[in-house]
Amino acid sequence: MTYALNEDQRQVQDLVRRVARERVAPRADAIDRTAEYPQDMYDLLRELGLFTLPFPPAYGGNGSMLSACIAIEELGRVCYNTAYLLLVQWTPFGAILAGGTEEQKKRFLPGLASGALRAAISTTEPQSGSDIAGIRTRARKVDGGYRLRGAKIWCTNAPVSDIILVGARTGEERSARAINLFIVPRGAKGFEIGRKEEKMGARGVPSCPLFLDEVFVPETDRLGPEGGGFKIVMEAFNQSRPLIGARGVGLAQGAIDHSVDFIKNRHLFGQTVSDFQGVRWMIADMAMQTEAARNLVYRAAAMVDAGVTGTELAPIVAMAKCFASDTAMTVATDAVQLFGASGISADYPINRYFRDAKVLQIVEGTNQIQRNIIANAVLGRASR
Ligand SMILES: Cc1cc2nc3c(=O)[nH]c(=O)nc-3n(C[C@H](O)[C@H](O)[C@H](O)COP(=O)(O)OP(=O)(O)OC[C@H]3O[C@@H](n4cnc5c(N)ncnc54)[C@H](O)[C@@H]3O)c2cc1C
Repeated sequence: MTYALNEDQRQVQDLVRRVARERVAPRADAIDRTAEYPQDMYDLLRELGLFTLPFPPAYGGNGSMLSACIAIEELGRVCYNTAYLLLVQWTPFGAILAGGTEEQKKRFLPGLASGALRAAISTTEPQSGSDIAGIRTRARKVDGGYRLRGAKIWCTNAPVSDIILVGARTGEERSARAINLFIVPRGAKGFEIGRKEEKMGARGVPSCPLFLDEVFVPETDRLGPEGGGFKIVMEAFNQSRPLIGARGVGLAQGAIDHSVDFIKNRHLFGQTVSDFQGVRWMIADMAMQTEAARNLVYRAAAMVDAGVTGTELAPIVAMAKCFASDTAMTVATDAVQLFGASGISADYPINRYFRDAKVLQIVEGTNQIQRNIIANAVLGRASR
């Protein structure tokens, strides 16, 4: 297994780096400030064919998770929200890939890979985020399918999605084996999307509550066997965790880029800030941590590309997500420090990196949950 970049991956890196600098970076501050969905950036990613990167060629993809990570990293370096547009599409794609029937895959995956269709995934409820098995939304069996009733929160991408994968329980008992994922079209009768959250970070891609009032879903739109939803969500998260890590690497690299530019141009005590040894060591540490995170993320992506799954993959992708997002937070915090008061001012971009980094430590399994996965792999599962 190798994660040295091949010719194709270098081409992806060169292309996305250039487009990110020329077309994405100039939009980043406005997207964050206005918190408006960046349709122009979505169209750009589609035009470049970037949605296809991580998925099997059989469903219109390019089949390289490592290329996908490289693209996310380059976009995330200049604009967290534009990188998010790719990722938010890829998690539901991963869930359908992991648990869908051949008919479901043919119906949805080519559209998601090309960007013709948009999707979201919704498991979180007010009383259960990390504790997915505690969801209360019910799927009641009826003739030909199910009726879904309940409420969700924090469903990202919902208002622009064609389909939303909704988690609901079929059994009474509080068990992962009662959890299912259902494919619900946005316009389904009884399905409502609430007002978007006012967020500190990740502001350009809307996160909303969902309300389901006896929404009918045919049996053919349940993903996997009844009670198989939890396993599918976990496998989809396993596949997408290197991508979250890549967002952390890109964010950290972008924070370093801005810091270098700032400290080389700020003069104090008769020299530039970049000449103070204490500051030089800070930059060295920021670069060192970011490079370590990059290597862990590339290795995790290479394992996905090599077909590794399940308990072999889970701790490595958890390490990649956790280490890279913790690195993003540490590096962004140091970057704000290097800017001094300018780091606090909305006139400079660096506070955006700081706010977005915090989101990464929470989404797609908080970093405490990642540490649980890693500890379980090292020590065995704790008895409770
Ligand atoms: C910007 C954003 C976008 C999101 N998008 C989506 C989306 O598209 N779809 C979706 O379904 N959800 C989404 N979420 C929700 C996200 O997945 C949850 O917020 C996350 O899983 C944590 O759940 P929670 O907020 O309920 O925190 P809780 O689970 O209540 O956790 C609270 C604290 O307790 C800690 N904790 C919990 N359990 C343990 C444990 N066993 N051991 C140690 N510590 C623990 C947590 O790490 C956290 O620090 C999004 C959230 C954000 C912020």
